[in-house]
Formats: sequence, structure tokens, C-alpha cells
Amino acid sequence: MPELRQNYFTKEWVIIATERAKRPEELVTHRTLKAPARYVETCPFCPGNENKTPPEVMRVPSGANGTWQVRVIANKFAALSPDIKPTRVIHRSRRSMGGFGIHDVIVESPNHAHVTCLMTDTHVAVLRAYKARYDALSLDRRIAHITIFKNHGTDAGASLEHPHSQLIAAPVISQQIRERFQQALSHYDEYGECMFCQMVQEELGEGKRLVIATDHFVALQQFASPTPFCMHIYPRRHMASFGDINPEEIGDLARVLRTILGKLYVGLQDPDFNYSIRTAPAEYAGVKYFHWYLSIIPRLTRVAGFELGSGMFINTVLPEAAAEFLRNVKPENAARAG
Ligand SMILES: [Zn+2]
Ligand SMILES: [Zn+2]
Repeated sequence: MPELRQNYFTKEWVIIATERAKRPEELVTHRTLKAPARYVETCPFCPGNENKTPPEVMRVPSGANGTWQVRVIANKFAALSPDIKPTRVIHRSRRSMGGFGIHDVIVESPNHAHVTCLMTDTHVAVLRAYKARYDALSLDRRIAHITIFKNHGTDAGASLEHPHSQLIAAPVISQQIRERFQQALSHYDEYGECMFCQMVQEELGEGKRLVIATDHFVALQQFASPTPFCMHIYPRRHMASFGDINPEEIGDLARVLRTILGKLYVGLQDPDFNYSIRTAPAEYAGVKYFHWYLSIIPRLTRVAGFELGSGMFINTVLPEAAAEFLRNVKPENAARAG
């Protein structure tokens, strides 16, 4: 029997179409897992081609001339520009603003063939670079909101193969973020607690949608998951802003992320995916009602007419079945699969 479920945070309804339900295994991409070369001469992100990229913002380790682990550079095809003034123009029903903003690329490794979940080293240097840029840009009074995200694979919008993620700092806060904030605030006003903290406790108690739990993080399938295998990773400690993460938590998050990406890689055969960090805008850092998280969306299905026409998603995989499937995948097999 199909079931409608509502996302408590967004009030959005999804159809869990159990009649058309697919077993998680049916969504395996069956991609031939062939490792790309470690170095590609024409790749702008490979070592030796540093002068082909726009100016470097930072590198890890800092100050190193030759080798590097992570590089942050300005995006050559930036969506927003740091050289434009964010001046608002209001004319009758029209609102516009100069396209000010920062668009960084975080090159995650010097190795072109690097796949986080196949490596012994974790994502820790990458997460530290995210935080360094997040902290620095949060101080810029012109910036209202920062989004850190990764596109993996062409279905997820990646145009370059070399492993990288991106950061966009914008001078406005999107309506979607505003709505989530308002919902979180009204929950706090009514119940006196953070709705995310409450949900994480409920999910830990019930266990059905839990994928993994560590000392500092909990990875879950959502009750009203809009697409198959969509996952959220929440810090256990209440934190509104990603900028509040401490070094020990960064280490733990890197391990959790590698495990989750490894489970997707082995279980679904290297699906294309996006992940993003959903955090409070800098001006709301420290609020008691919002809680940051990392959202991972495997791109296994396409958004079609019904989704576009109604704003409602049809998910053909039960979130509980997806969680059970992922719990049973052994990410240690990732290295062998690669
Ligand atoms: Zn490369
Ligand atoms: Zn919380």
C-alpha cells in the first residue's frame, strides 16, 4: 500500500510508492568500476598545472611550495564575483542585486584517481579546509549564507573528473533556508527544544532508519525521504553552525563520511551523488533552535513531470529498507571493488 509521509522540518509531503517499490539492489548502477589515471596532463587540478588555475586561496599544508594535500582556488567559471558590489535595486515588482559572492573550488587531493572511500587517509584535511574557508568568509559582513557542496559524477553536475568540492558564499539567504529557520524557531518556541536534537533521539531509540552512529555523529535515512538513499549526518552535540565543529569532531566526521561513501560505492556501485553542508547562516551562529547537518543525495532517479508540477516527490524505496541495506554493506570491501 502506498503511503504519504510528511517531512516535519519542511512540511513537504512525499509519496512512498510501495506498490512500485524497488528493492534497494534494483537501483545498483552496474557501472564498470575502472580506476582513472592518477595523473592527467591536461587536468587543471593535477599537480604541475597549478599555474593553469585561477589564484590560489589556500593550500594544506600551508606555505609548502611543492607538494600539497588540498588546494583551495577561485572557481574559473564562478557563479558570483567578489569584484561586484552587492547593491540592491528595487523597481516596482522587480528586485535585483549586483552578483557579488565568492565561489571556491576545493581540490581534495593531488591524486586524479583519488576516491575518498578507497583511501586509507580520510577526508580530514578537506573538512579542515572547508572550516577554514567557512570561518574566514563568515567574518565578511557582505556575505549572508555559505553553502559547501560536492558533485560526484555527471548526473550530479560534475564537469571535471579530478576530485573536488565547492563553496559558494552569497549575499542573500534563500527562501528555502528562511522557511526551515522559521519552522525550527516555531518548534523551539512551542516545545523549548531543538527539533533536530529531538528527532535524532527518536531515531536512535527506534533504530529503523539508522545507518551508523559514532561518538559524535549519527547518519540516518529520513522518515519522509524524497529520493532513494538520501541520507543526513547530524552532529550529536547541538550546534547551529558548521563553524562550531571542533577538531575531534572533524576527525570523526571524516571517518563517518568515508564509511557512508564507501557503503554507497560498494552497495550501489559508485553512484553519482551530491553532498552539501546545511548550516545556519553566520548571523545565526549559536542559536538554540537550528542544527547543522550534512546531506548526501545519491542521484539514482530523475526528477520528472510530477515532481516539477506538484513539488511532491515519489520515492520508490522505503527509507527503512534503504537503511537496512546500507547497514549490511561492508565498506571495507570498497578497496577490493576499486
Ligand atoms: Zn587531475
Ligand atoms: Zn539541536
